[in-house]
Amino acid sequence: MNGLFGDISRRDFMKYCATTAAVLGLSEMELVSKVSEALAASSSKAPVVWLEGQDCAGCTISLAGALNPPVSSIILDKLSIRYHETIMASAGYLAEAVYEDTVKAGGHVLCVEGSIPTADDRFCMIGGRPFREMVKESAEKAAVIIAVGACAAYGGIPAAGPTKSVGIGKIVKDKPIINLPTCPVHCDHLVGSILYFLATKSAPPLDKIGRPKLYFDELVHDNCRRRSYFDDGLFLTDWNDPKQKNWCLYEKGCKGPDTYADCPVRRWNDGQNFCIDCGAGCMGCAEPDFYDGMSPLYTAESERSRNIMARKEAGLIPPKEKA
Ligand code: SF4
Ligand code: SF4
Repeated sequence: MNGLFGDISRRDFMKYCATTAAVLGLSEMELVSKVSEALAASSSKAPVVWLEGQDCAGCTISLAGALNPPVSSIILDKLSIRYHETIMASAGYLAEAVYEDTVKAGGHVLCVEGSIPTADDRFCMIGGRPFREMVKESAEKAAVIIAVGACAAYGGIPAAGPTKSVGIGKIVKDKPIINLPTCPVHCDHLVGSILYFLATKSAPPLDKIGRPKLYFDELVHDNCRRRSYFDDGLFLTDWNDPKQKNWCLYEKGCKGPDTYADCPVRRWNDGQNFCIDCGAGCMGCAEPDFYDGMSPLYTAESERSRNIMARKEAGLIPPKEKA
């Protein structure tokens, strides 16, 4: 078979699709075959407009880390990235013209990275225009809108500053938005959501704050390997004490009991590791009130942390059954 993956047999291709779909959480049989069809179809190059507002480009870097499928395959073979400030070769009037043509034609995948200031448009201007206006106009005819990362989804770190920034859901109110929080976005969440859209022409099932249930249905706490220490009240207080090495990180500010995300299972960097297994508590970056609502990050002094302990003491976080 010539095409996306070069000269490979149909059997190998189907195996590849099944593996990819499983890795991305799209493993139901029906989805596997739809993903295969979408990947095999040569006419499915979806135009993408990727806007960057108040961001650090960390989500772009996270996408560049996608190995399954590799980001080069996605970008060169399945998507036509028409406009992306960080990676596009063109600049100035030429780039803006491509943006305008794509947005006017419609049917594009709109990815927004970064938040939108509401205190004053001048906090984020692109090509002399308010970013807020660009988000609105590019959303109008988009086939699907994805808020890439915590900032675009709910405001993120910039929302803790003076710009009074918000996620795109507060600006675009008449269309569904796929919110992919975490800071940065997890490349599997992004690639999986795009593949789901390519395969079904619809957004994946979302929870009530717009996150795909495929990835945000379970608490970090419920899949954490330090969970038995939480249940037994053994909390790490001294980073330098080897005896406490694997204990629960609640006293170090972990917000895992209040955060829905599949990080302990999916892990990061091609499944290598994630925050808690590196020894840092979960900062709650998948939740709408990250960053302000989760701070201070590395002590149990936030209101969130107090609520977690109150719920534990009231028996509202029952110990996990031992396997
Ligand atoms: S509080 Fe954090 S470190 Fe402790 S068990 Fe829950 S998720 Fe794991
Ligand atoms: S473990 Fe928590 S802080 Fe780390 S990426 Fe996942 S949701 Fe964010």
